[in-house]
Amino acid sequence: MTDLTSLTIADAREGLASKSFTARELTDAHLAAIEAARVLNAYVLETPDRAREMARAADEKIAKGEGGPLAGIPLGIKDLFATRDIRTTACSKILGNFIPPYESTVTSQLWRDGAVLLGKLNNDEFAMGSSNETSCFGPVTNPWRRKGSNTTLVPGGSSGGSASAVAALLCMGATATDTGGSIRQPAAFTATVGIKPTYGRCSRWGIVAFASSLDQAGPIARTTRDAAILMRSMAGHDPKDTTSVDIAVPNYEAAIGKSVKGMKIGIPKEYRLDGMPAEIEKLWSEGAQWLEAAGAELVEVSLPHTKYALPAYYIVAPAEASSNLARYDGVRYGLREPAKNIIEMYENSRADGFGDEVRRRVLIGTYVLSAGYYDAYYLRAQKVRTLIKKDFEDCFAKGVHAILTPATPSAAFGIGEKGGADPVEMYLNDIFTVTVNMAGLPGIAVPAGKDTQGLPLGLQLIGRPFDEETLFSLGEVIEQAAGRFPAPKWW
Ligand code: GLN
Repeated sequence: MTDLTSLTIADAREGLASKSFTARELTDAHLAAIEAARVLNAYVLETPDRAREMARAADEKIAKGEGGPLAGIPLGIKDLFATRDIRTTACSKILGNFIPPYESTVTSQLWRDGAVLLGKLNNDEFAMGSSNETSCFGPVTNPWRRKGSNTTLVPGGSSGGSASAVAALLCMGATATDTGGSIRQPAAFTATVGIKPTYGRCSRWGIVAFASSLDQAGPIARTTRDAAILMRSMAGHDPKDTTSVDIAVPNYEAAIGKSVKGMKIGIPKEYRLDGMPAEIEKLWSEGAQWLEAAGAELVEVSLPHTKYALPAYYIVAPAEASSNLARYDGVRYGLREPAKNIIEMYENSRADGFGDEVRRRVLIGTYVLSAGYYDAYYLRAQKVRTLIKKDFEDCFAKGVHAILTPATPSAAFGIGEKGGADPVEMYLNDIFTVTVNMAGLPGIAVPAGKDTQGLPLGLQLIGRPFDEETLFSLGEVIEQAAGRFPAPKWW
């Protein structure tokens, strides 16, 4: 029998239905793989007992012909999603040993459809970061390495555990979240597929909040089809999240293999950065040619406010974060430090519980929201955000179906290599992805090639609101042309 962990979700679904193997066998194969790969630090909590129990239940349902669309499919869950009775920390010391008495809507829908929980996945603390180096559980290792080198590379962030686990065959797919690029950038760094749906497509209820007007959940998987399968279960209206939108969830999988003939693909000139590595530029034009060969029409488009997206994001996101993180006061959750009085208790708990990057965001956010600076920073950033959104609207109004860009300005880098002296160096990772969050649009990252050092690179497709289907169709064209990139196993 082939190694069960290397199957796609689509293959496994078939194998389970035809009784080639059981959900229990599939889960056991993954649990063994997780145990053998602890060096990657992708999981912060393994839940083997729960996994076997869920697999057993899935087998029973499959036997009765009642298995849901994800029956018996083992998944990893980013530790930002609240899981009932299972520790959820956002990889922050301040949440300590927090055990939620509730389940996030997105994960509850996965369990409703029969998926199996393997464990909780590492991420940057409160999803703040682009390298998974800010987690209180330590950094995650990317299964990919540079040719002929043992240097440990980051998997990207903040969904670094999700991307690493999917690439290293430690789960068949994973949940992730994206506030400024945290699904798409780690997907690009690990040769996996990641989609950030339209804002409002997936419920945010039960997901630890970072910047509520930007946060969206989405899947990371090994193929475009698998991402589409997971999206169908994750998406949907939820009255518990007032920003969730009541639009029927399409069968995203039906978009896989659909013709893209006649689609207009925008190539935004502002994404051609000075000093961008030649191989990224090359990959981008190759991707465009693949789409053209499939019958799409390429058009140059302009998104003139692109250059303001990153600075505006780093005002809006910290502002919302500082307000969201005010709830961690040493009283309601997790960590509480001893002190002489309540003020000192807040101060000690927050000083000890938050890592450096989170503290930096709280400071920036509090500053830009403070009286006297609010208009100059926060209000202005919100106006810029509207202009960014309008750039995209103008483009779509001209008949453009989707926009093709690189996913990241570089391939994966080494642990400790970036952002040490200057945090902006790290922030620049999201230069191609934050615009999409600012505009609330869907964006998918698909593996498209390798650089000269043998590291994967991804392309991004940005779509019209609630038109994830077009992204799946186009993503599949790129996947077919580029082929798939399994990570080399060295652990
Ligand atoms: N890297 C960005 C940040 O640090 C985005 C993170 C995310 O999307 N969660 O804010």
